[in-house]
Amino acid sequence: MQKVTAPLSNTQMVELRDKFGSVLQENVSLSFYTTAHVGGKADALIPANSADELANTAAFLWEAQIPFILIGGGSNVLVSDEGYHGVILLNHARNIRIDTHTTPMVAFAESGANFGGLARQAALRGMSGIEWAANVPGSVGGAVYGNAGAFGSNTQASLTSVDLILKDGGRQSWTADQMKYQYRSSILKREQISAVILSASFKLTQSDEETVQKAIAASTEKRKSTQPPGASTGSTFKNPEGDHAGRLIEAAGLKGYGIGGAVISPIHANFIINQNNASAMDYYRLIRHIQKTVADQFGVNLELEIELVGHFTDGEF
Ligand SMILES: Cc1cc2nc3c(=O)[nH]c(=O)nc-3n(C[C@H](O)[C@H](O)[C@H](O)COP(=O)(O)OP(=O)(O)OC[C@H]3O[C@@H](n4cnc5c(N)ncnc54)[C@H](O)[C@@H]3O)c2cc1C
Repeated sequence: MQKVTAPLSNTQMVELRDKFGSVLQENVSLSFYTTAHVGGKADALIPANSADELANTAAFLWEAQIPFILIGGGSNVLVSDEGYHGVILLNHARNIRIDTHTTPMVAFAESGANFGGLARQAALRGMSGIEWAANVPGSVGGAVYGNAGAFGSNTQASLTSVDLILKDGGRQSWTADQMKYQYRSSILKREQISAVILSASFKLTQSDEETVQKAIAASTEKRKSTQPPGASTGSTFKNPEGDHAGRLIEAAGLKGYGIGGAVISPIHANFIINQNNASAMDYYRLIRHIQKTVADQFGVNLELEIELVGHFTDGEF
């Protein structure tokens, strides 16, 4: 789903300046806020430093009918070279709390907290359940939104509740069931529901620090040997049922193939690396080339795991 909007009007910019003063940043390059380090400028950017700030800002923007997108770690989005016409709500709400005296034990995090950081904090207390996330680069909110997962587990498995604000519904607390999770997807993602995840709680079990740290060390080693370092969006495509996107791309002979500065990693074919100042269009052309080649050779339609933000044109394909 491409999130495309018209440039903000002068009236909207004045409204934003009046409301947010020096907190508002204008014409901000989004390449600084995405792990692929590509993307043009956003008309405006507003950081939110707590769950309440996040909720209040989202409510204001909805009320004022000013389009916005929330960005956490920017590790699952590809922003177009034209950027995004609207507001980027940058999630810096990062408080976490780990309750060891409750049953079950709970890790609570505001949605801007780094998920890997939360997993490592839990590990220091010998608490198990989310250690698989220790190296996922995004925010808790991004993981809850997209059901991030690795090494046979996922967000859904440990999530107990989510606090969120809905454009049509205000602040609510949802159970994990209400998120209607599927592979790398929630109802919020599938149905593009206007909502902002404010915080989430995860159930943990007591283990011991050595065991949990060992599991993290093993998964870190596995990642190092199977995934490339450097700027990328991580896994670009979802794995099709019963197969792996990386295997299909490799079998199509595309490992190492590049367009402009965007290159299919020779280490993991589902990773597209920003090797040499890639543009978003380099990424997009390569994505389409991969999809066409894999469909032609194997009859499989690779679906994007990452989300497209801004305008991308299919005209030349
Ligand atoms: C090197 C690398 C390794 C990766 N490894 C994994 C992996 O092992 N497993 C895996 O599942 N993924 C992996 N990813 C992908 C990515 O890290 C995850 O999808 C992550 O959960 C995205 O979080 P984010 O904060 O970066 O989301 P963003 O990219 O900031 O946002 C992605 C989408 O989520 C929405 N969103 C984000 N936060 C909220 C919120 N609070 N409320 C509502 N909507 C929100 C955004 O609006 C956007 O639509 C990897 C990525 C990279 C670059």
